[in-house]
Amino acid sequence: KTVIKLTDIEKVYQTKTIETVALHNINIAIRKGEFVSIMGPSGCGKSTLLNIMGLLDEPSSGTIEIDGASVKSYSDKVLARLRNEKIGFVFQSYHLINDLSVTDNVELPLLYRSMAGSERRKRALAALEKVGLSARTKHFPNQLSGGQRQRVAIARALAGQPEIILADEPTGNLDSVMGNEIMDILLRLNEEEQTTIVMVTHDELMAKKTERLIRLFDGSQVS
Ligand code: ADP
Ligand code: ADP
Repeated sequence: KTVIKLTDIEKVYQTKTIETVALHNINIAIRKGEFVSIMGPSGCGKSTLLNIMGLLDEPSSGTIEIDGASVKSYSDKVLARLRNEKIGFVFQSYHLINDLSVTDNVELPLLYRSMAGSERRKRALAALEKVGLSARTKHFPNQLSGGQRQRVAIARALAGQPEIILADEPTGNLDSVMGNEIMDILLRLNEEEQTTIVMVTHDELMAKKTERLIRLFDGSQVS
């Protein structure tokens, strides 16, 4: 089963004076349960590609299908709901809210759903348990290490029970010990729960642990 399909994707950023072709002729199908990494030099289009897969950014042309349905005609509202229900995001810089507790951060994506507060709390705590942070639920992000913060961000992605996790350099701000911990969590989610994961990374060792590697160069796929 194909969960994300990109066909002939082109992305051009246009400013007053310059036009940048960020992606050119991209054709990628991500199957359910795959763990795919995306590599390539800085500026080659990795974040743009991930943002397009995650419906955060629109391509200039081409088709995006999620679970076999083109999203082209969807309103912003429908896109936002699809994103909230199907996709979990993990970013290099965590994007946690510092004046919310760990549990409240993890509950955030669930606020957009009609769900009782007790159910939200239950799901958040279950997600925190999966990333080994049950002992830190009442802490605040600035009381945690980088690796722990990233685990909170992964729990936040998991709380929504997404089909797909999109991770943009999830280990990029971490030393190798903490980076490996994060990678082990992602590998375990992929293996045990068949969560589909697409990860941008600069790290060949991390990429080697995944099933498939897509290389970008200057906006084009080279493998
Ligand atoms: P990577 O993630 O591989 O570093 P990006 O996807 O961030 O690459 O960027 C790809 C190209 O698109 C780069 O040349 C970058 O300068 C350009 N770009 C990215 N975002 C914008 C934007 N909002 N406006 C104009 N150009 C952009
Ligand atoms: P950085 O490499 O600076 O750490 P990130 O990987 O954190 O960047 O973010 C990648 C892109 O996703 C950025 O363009 C950012 O604006 C966007 N982004 C980050 N967090 C969110 C979010 N919660 N919702 C929508 N877009 C986001």
